[in-house]
Amino acid sequence: MDRGWGFLIGLLGAVWLLSSGHGEQQPPETAAQRCFCQVSGYLDDCTCDVETIDRFNNYRLFPRLQKLLESDYFRYYKVNLKRPCPFWNDISQCGRRDCAVKPCQSDEVPDGIKSASYKYSEEANNLIEECEQAERLGAVDESLSEETQKAVLQWTKHDDSSDNFCEADDIQSPDAEYVDLLLNPERYTGYKGPDAWKIWNVIYEENCFKPQTIKRPLNPLASGQGKSEENTFYSWLEGLCVEKRAFYRLISGLHASINVHLSARYLLQETWLEKKWGHNITEFQQRFDGILTQGEGPRRLKNLYFLYLIELRALSKVLPFFERPDFQLFTGNKIQDEENKMLSFPLHFDENSFFAGDKKEAHKLKEDFRLHFRNISRIMDCVGCFKCRLWGKLQTQGLGTALKILFSEKLIANMPESGPSYEFHLTRQEIVSLFNAFGRISTSVKELENFRNLLQSIH
Ligand code: FAD
Repeated sequence: MDRGWGFLIGLLGAVWLLSSGHGEQQPPETAAQRCFCQVSGYLDDCTCDVETIDRFNNYRLFPRLQKLLESDYFRYYKVNLKRPCPFWNDISQCGRRDCAVKPCQSDEVPDGIKSASYKYSEEANNLIEECEQAERLGAVDESLSEETQKAVLQWTKHDDSSDNFCEADDIQSPDAEYVDLLLNPERYTGYKGPDAWKIWNVIYEENCFKPQTIKRPLNPLASGQGKSEENTFYSWLEGLCVEKRAFYRLISGLHASINVHLSARYLLQETWLEKKWGHNITEFQQRFDGILTQGEGPRRLKNLYFLYLIELRALSKVLPFFERPDFQLFTGNKIQDEENKMLSFPLHFDENSFFAGDKKEAHKLKEDFRLHFRNISRIMDCVGCFKCRLWGKLQTQGLGTALKILFSEKLIANMPESGPSYEFHLTRQEIVSLFNAFGRISTSVKELENFRNLLQSIH
């Protein structure tokens, strides 16, 4: 079993410990405690308790990451929002104004980004143009040596579909457009009800390794649910191998994160002149209050922290590449490219937990993970609200990239200190989605602090 699994297992075990350890608590009293009572303590047997993550994220990482994501390299994301849903035909676009996505005009996107969709640095771009055969550039290959040239040629032959956890958009398609993420923020859109439930339902029911006989608690598309469903579901989940459990937790963490955002940037007031967006405490409580959600809410929040650690870990694995002197997060603007590099340095995270296991079994699990996750990325084309689809696609691609990194740890560890790597590479799209997806989770963790304070202030 490779080290990616090890990390998942270490984390999951610890998160699971956390959940069982808090099961016997007295019913909490205040509104804040009712959402956050179980969301504290250790997430890992190293230093990863919730409070440490909160401090690390909210005061050190979050402000830096936000600044990084405002830069040109990260704010423009190319996406095809017009791909047909591969699973069913009756998608009604909700038609709400808040679901609209405004794509960039071509003169709004910096030239360096347009010409460098698959490329990294100016030098490297030149090289690729010379070679004319290369489609993509590896994450560590920016030199002009002969060796590099060979590598570039090699990549053109490399079919990496077996490494990818997402069904990537064909960004060369005429339907693919650049979107300025800063101008199209993820927030409340009003996309809800059976259409939205159908998407979440298909994801959990068909793509999280769940047999049909096991019912999810509080599933709005199922009727007559009670405590026994909850118990059966959690004993089934506990009985799963840790990796499959991790899969469910990642999806649930992503779901929680999306719902934290829409509660934090809720449409509070609308006049003909302006719209006011802000925190909607009731919306947050309905989704995360322990009593209102029969204990589900705090579990969802813990899954959010789990997702946070997984994506952080993946980022920590690839950050060293971005520090290489010959690598630039290339936008064409030299000053900004250098600044990006400075900003991405201090995001390091220490890792501790490793596990060794059966290689064959790990391979099979990786394959299962990959196929299920690819399916989820395709389901995003069925989301009937363009804004939700945009952020759903970006975040699943980001998480898919994180998984690709974690499952490629051996390849990454064996990469040469400098010069090309034949085995592992990331496209610009993957880098942009990884950082932005993590930016979303980091923002959610920060928003939890805001909600905690707001809830405390009403009691
Ligand atoms: P839902 O969030 O729809 O959840 C359905 C059911 O799943 C719940 O009843 C519960 O049983 C279960 N559940 C809920 N949360 C979790 C969890 N974390 N883990 C496990 N199970 C859970 N809306 C916006 O306003 N803005 C957006 O940007 C946005 N993006 C979206 C992106 C995608 C891909 C999808 C599918 C939906 C998006 N939505 C967005 C809609 C939003 O997520 C909710 O579906 C909607 O607000 C309705 O919420 P709900 O309370 O009815 O339950």
